[in-house]
Amino acid sequence: MENSSPRVVVITGGSKGIGRAVAYRFAEEKAKIVFAHYDADDSDSQETLKVLAGMGVEAEAHKIDVSLFQDVDLFFREIFGKFERVDVLVNNAGITKDTLLMRMSEEDWDAVLDINLKGVFNCTRAVVRPMIKERAGRIVNISSVVGQIGNPGQANYSASKAGVIALTKTTAKELAGRGITVNGVAPGFVDTEMTAVLSDKVKDGFLAQIPLGRMGMPEEVAEAVYWLCSDAASYITGQIIHVNGGMYM
Ligand code: NAD
Repeated sequence: MENSSPRVVVITGGSKGIGRAVAYRFAEEKAKIVFAHYDADDSDSQETLKVLAGMGVEAEAHKIDVSLFQDVDLFFREIFGKFERVDVLVNNAGITKDTLLMRMSEEDWDAVLDINLKGVFNCTRAVVRPMIKERAGRIVNISSVVGQIGNPGQANYSASKAGVIALTKTTAKELAGRGITVNGVAPGFVDTEMTAVLSDKVKDGFLAQIPLGRMGMPEEVAEAVYWLCSDAASYITGQIIHVNGGMYM
């Protein structure tokens, strides 16, 4: 974006996978990058920070659980205290806890909804007032193709991602008059740790549904996120961009 001062970009789940690719994409414009993660160890976030430093970018990693309202509030207070504003929020953190609905525990339902959906609410809630004050801001929420078409074994996950789509549209309507755009990106089947755990049978099942005949790469999702935050997308809000190889049209 043609700004004189670097944009301040906050990415949840930025230590690896799609969030990491989003961080690298914003690093190309020399944005200031703060990312959250909740990994058991710091090795992925350290690796991400190393690459970002190599790109000449000011970056920070924080271990926080996006499902905890108070922790998220504190995290953003620190960011506003240090950087004074947030120009871009990418709500990317997400987990799966797959099993058939008839076997799904209450804990697995709650964990996925709390992180994938409430986490988006928590982070958005924390940036909205300051963004309104600036009369500017870009928010991109990462949904999923299964939030649109459903998927056996993912009742919790698909419901959370459908919720993200509705939340995106409502937030977009509430904030459009304030100069803030809110959009979603719904990836299909992307090559990250989240999908690496799937069996070959499940992977083959997905591949058979993808007209482009291959998995997506995190960078291909990051490009859509980045574009939604660019001047080129200034008249786009409340939209869901499908980055899914044609899996859902
Ligand atoms: P990943 O497992 O590679 O990375 C997940 C990231 O989220 C990590 O940085 C992790 O630390 C963070 N995270 C997990 N729980 C968290 C919590 N409670 N608080 C803060 N951070 C937390 O996953 P990915 O494949 O890169 O997925 C990124 C997003 O894209 C997710 O929302 C996922 O649902 C979505 N998505 C992924 C695919 C895919 O095929 N990989 C497809 C559609 C949508």
